[in-house]
Formats: sequence, structure tokens, C-alpha cells
Amino acid sequence: MDFSHINLKGKTAIVTGGSKGIGYGMALGLATVGANVVIVSRNIEEGRAAAKDCEAKGVKAHAISCDVTNSAAVASMVAEAAKTFGQIDILINNAGMNIRKPLVDVLDSDWDTVINTNLKGVFLVGREVTKQMIAQGKGGKIVNVASVGGAIGIPNLTSYCATKGGVVQMTKVWALELVEHKIFVNAVCPAYIKTPMTEGWLTDKARLDWILGMTPMGRLGEIQEVAGPVVFLASEWANYITGTCLLVDGGWTAR
Ligand code: NAP
Repeated sequence: MDFSHINLKGKTAIVTGGSKGIGYGMALGLATVGANVVIVSRNIEEGRAAAKDCEAKGVKAHAISCDVTNSAAVASMVAEAAKTFGQIDILINNAGMNIRKPLVDVLDSDWDTVINTNLKGVFLVGREVTKQMIAQGKGGKIVNVASVGGAIGIPNLTSYCATKGGVVQMTKVWALELVEHKIFVNAVCPAYIKTPMTEGWLTDKARLDWILGMTPMGRLGEIQEVAGPVVFLASEWANYITGTCLLVDGGWTAR
């Protein structure tokens, strides 16, 4: 193993939600260490722009429009990715969203939207990519993006925390099931990072102060500080790691 640097040259990674926020940072990180990247998002223009930024790192990149809640669309996205690059070695299962409300205000439709995107979407993409990886017979790496809300409760996040706890559990199940195929499955659980999903919400000073007070490092995380652990988990440096959920939380859950 080359310990001088992480090298994913010749590998192909699918990054769901790779058009912006944390997923965009992960896609750029993977491209920086040589991986070809498939950017998946519903908005194809944003996906293409992200793919272009990845190509500027000297790799090949391809954007696919796909709603991860749609089973048929996910199957066709995985087929297109495999056809474009010949193989899929890495999946970053990252697409997600959030609806923040107190329990008593959560509508059935809110619950369905969050569960369909963050839990069913991760399941659908994981299932289809796993079929492809098993057929290839060369192993693979899956990194699911959960949240600190998969490890602890956060007020007003009933549906979100339910999905992220579910992603943590799916990660463990897949790790056990897929180890015989040398497909290694891990999760990252970030705390608050400024992205298009959170930046409006984080402008409220009381909320920000609460988060900073909960975080021993006393600051928000940076997108690159999630991308780094994800690139590591996708690399051969993590070859003896499967079924783990890496907290990327500035020490929040050490309390
Ligand atoms: P973001 O900036 O809102 O980006 C979300 C990405 O997911 C976009 O590329 C979006 O593209 C895509 N996406 C959303 N719904 C989709 C769908 N149904 N089908 C396909 N793509 C979809 O969010 P983020 O903050 O980077 O969050 C990324 C992940 O990190 C999420 O799983 C989130 O729960 C997790 N996370 C975030 C934080 C944080 O503080 N930001 C903390 C912990 C965990 P389209 O809209 O074009 O589809």
C-alpha cells in the first residue's frame, strides 16, 4: 500500500447529491485524488456544473439527473453510470433533505417526503449499486451520509433523526451482508456544516449559539472536513473498516 498519499486513480465513484453542499465537496475531494465521478441530482444544470469542476481536477466526470426516491430512475441511473465508465467502485450515498418542525406540527406529507428521500433513497441507490458491484466481482466501498442526528436526538427533527438512525442501522446490516463480496460499508455522521440546506437556518443567532455551545470545538464544521473522512473511507487506507459510523462532529457526542 502506498502511504505517501491516497490514490483513487482508475476508480469510479457515484456521489448522490453531488451538485452542491457536502456532496459537491466530496465529489471534488474524490476527483482530486484521481477518481472519475458521477454526479447525481435532480437539477441537471447544477450537476453538470459540478461535473465540470471535477473534470478541472484532471478526471472524467458525468452528471445524471435522477430523483433518488424513484426506483426505476435509480436503476436507470446506475445502468447509465456503469455504461459510461465500465464499472462502479465507490458509492457516496449522500442525497438528503430536511423539514424542521415540532412533533405536533409534522404533517403526514412532511414525514413521507423526508423518509422517502433520506431513507428510501439511500436504500434504493445502495441496492442498485450493490447489484452492480456484486456482478463486477471486484468488491467496492459504500459510504452512507447519516448525521449526528442518527446518534442523538435533536428537537424538531422527528423525521430527519428517524431517517439518519435508519441509515446508521442499514450501514451495519449491509456491512455484515456484503463483506463476503469485499464490499465495505461505512457511514459518516456530521454535525452542523454550512451548506445550501442549512445556511438560511443558521442565520438565527440563538440557534447558532446553541450549536456552538453543544460543540466542544466551538465552531461549525467545514465541507472539506466531511469530504476528508469520506475520501479516506472510500480508499484502500480504510480496507479493514466496515460497519462503522464515523462521527464528524467537533466533539459534540463526546459529552
Ligand atoms: P444540500 O446542500 O441541500 O444538497 C443536497 C443535495 O442532494 C443536492 O445535490 C440535491 O440536488 C440532492 N438531492 C436532494 N434530494 C434529492 C433527490 N430526491 N434525488 C436526488 N438528489 C437529491 O444538503 P447538504 O447540507 O449538503 O446535505 C448533504 C447530506 O449531508 C444530506 O444527507 C444531509 O442530511 C447530510 N448532513 C448535512 C449536515 C449539514 O449540516 N449540512 C449535517 C449532517 C448531515 P437536487 O436538489 O438537484 O436534487
